[in-house]
Amino acid sequence: MAVLGWVSLRQWERAADLLVREQARDMASMAAEKVEMALDHAEDAFVDRLQALLTARGVDPAALEGLIAGEPLVRHLVLADTRGEVRYPRGAAAEAAPGASTARARRSVKARDVGPLVATFGLDVEALRRDVLPASLGPLGSGTILAVFDGEGRTVYAPATLEGAQPLQSVAFRAHLPDWRLTVYQPGGAAPRDAVRGQTRLFMGAFVVLLVIILAGSLLTWRLTRRETEMARLKSDFVANVSHDLKTPLSVIRMFGETLEMGRVTDEGGRQEYYRVITREAERLSRLIDNVLDFSRIEGGRRRYERVPTAVEPLLREALDAFAYPLQQQGFKVELVVAPDLPEVAMDPEAIGQALSNLVDNAIKYSAEDRVLSVAARVEAGELLLSVADRGVGIPAAEQARIFEKFYRVGRSDTQGRRGSGVGLALVRHVVEAHGGRVTVESAPGQGSRFTLRLPLA
Ligand code: ADP
Repeated sequence: MAVLGWVSLRQWERAADLLVREQARDMASMAAEKVEMALDHAEDAFVDRLQALLTARGVDPAALEGLIAGEPLVRHLVLADTRGEVRYPRGAAAEAAPGASTARARRSVKARDVGPLVATFGLDVEALRRDVLPASLGPLGSGTILAVFDGEGRTVYAPATLEGAQPLQSVAFRAHLPDWRLTVYQPGGAAPRDAVRGQTRLFMGAFVVLLVIILAGSLLTWRLTRRETEMARLKSDFVANVSHDLKTPLSVIRMFGETLEMGRVTDEGGRQEYYRVITREAERLSRLIDNVLDFSRIEGGRRRYERVPTAVEPLLREALDAFAYPLQQQGFKVELVVAPDLPEVAMDPEAIGQALSNLVDNAIKYSAEDRVLSVAARVEAGELLLSVADRGVGIPAAEQARIFEKFYRVGRSDTQGRRGSGVGLALVRHVVEAHGGRVTVESAPGQGSRFTLRLPLA
């Protein structure tokens, strides 16, 4: 499109140029013709008056003197008879040098008592410049400059400065002013070429803007598509992960239930152990299903929170109690530090409890050899801070912002063997933000992680 536009602008430029030159040629010929006609007129008028005088008074030097004085355009009048003898002015050569005058005109006249005579005269350049040229050329050439140059190329007449102006066409005069030329100029900056240049620049500018918009749009589309592809991949991972997470506790429950049913476990202590495992796995299932259901409620904008003044310590203990079995089984050291005199805080205890459970679940899931779980609560700067810390695998700094996105899970190697849906932290963030708070994470790979829920007290 740019090339097409540029080519057509160039063609337009050439066509406009051609047209202007053609018009300039017409204008120049017309102007030269007009000057010639004016000079014809002036000469005829003068010769008429001369003829009248000669008829009435013969070759009367005083009368001729008077006639010439009244004709500023006429210079060097010489009257010679048919034998070439000069009758006027007395003693002058028939072909006297004309001085500052144009080529000489030659006309036949008749004088009383003398008979036929040849009158020659020149035209005064100054009078031409002053009277004839402005009168003839002035009304012509709006938008252009008409200038006249003499045989030596000197400017005789120019109504405006020629500096920066572009000569378009030049013509010669016909009879009266041989060697003189009339030239049509385009004033500086007014050439159609300049206008086209302006258009070309405008077009190019507009095209560059268009190009930038197209590029920006393509970039945006590309990024959106990439995000969508990633989202699709994350979603299919999510389905696979959730299915797996549902299957594992179910098969444990089924296996243990069948074993009990077949009466294979004979001692009471063993049976109790089996019951506990079944209960624990059922709890895990509930938590997982709650998470997924809540997540879908959040996505659909249907999750509602009911805030009531809630005591903080019992909430924390409840969340930890739910994990008492796995914590004890895996040999975790559990620390709970609750600042004294914590006020009751308005919150949806179920939702915050679920958020804490997700954090504790993650802390257990992503711990390695150093199994320490620290849960703390305190008030700082008008906020209730609930933190859950572990000394597990940690999270690389570059990933810390993304782990709160739905379905997002840190690269395989760190989370290898640890299944998860990738919606736990998205849920946590949604819950605290719905409470007007926020969740922060401090973590270093290999050192552990601390997640803190910050809820406003007011
Ligand atoms: P998941 O079901 O995968 O645990 P989450 O939304 O709970 O999903 O967590 C997102 C990702 O954040 C996890 O896959 C894990 O890589 C990382 N993560 C969350 N908690 C911890 C933690 N305590 N220690 C290390 N990594 C964590």
